[in-house]
Amino acid sequence: MGQRSISIRTLGDLVAYGYGMNALCERCRHRVDLDMQMLIRRFGADFVYLGKTLVTRLRCTRCGAKGAETISVQIHNAQNPWAPQHGSQRRA
Ligand SMILES: [Zn+2]
Repeated sequence: MGQRSISIRTLGDLVAYGYGMNALCERCRHRVDLDMQMLIRRFGADFVYLGKTLVTRLRCTRCGAKGAETISVQIHNAQNPWAPQHGSQRRA
C-alpha cells in the first residue's frame, strides 16, 4: 500500500534514474555495456528487465553465444551527481 521506495523495474525506469546495464557472456566471459536506447527501441520502455526474459534475447557480440549469464545494473550516466567526474579537474 504505502510503499515509497523507488521501484526500478523497466528499461525506461533505468534510464530515468541514470542506470545502465552490463551483460556477461557465459561462454567467453565477454562483458559489454548494453545500449539502453537500443534496448528501448527494440523492447519498449516499459519492458521489465528483471528475470531471465531479457538476457535470453541477447547475443554475445564476440562469440555469438545466446544468453548472457548476468546483467548487472550500474550507474552509467554523468548526470548523476554521485558519479565520479572523469579527468577534467585541474589543480591550482
Ligand atoms: Zn561470448
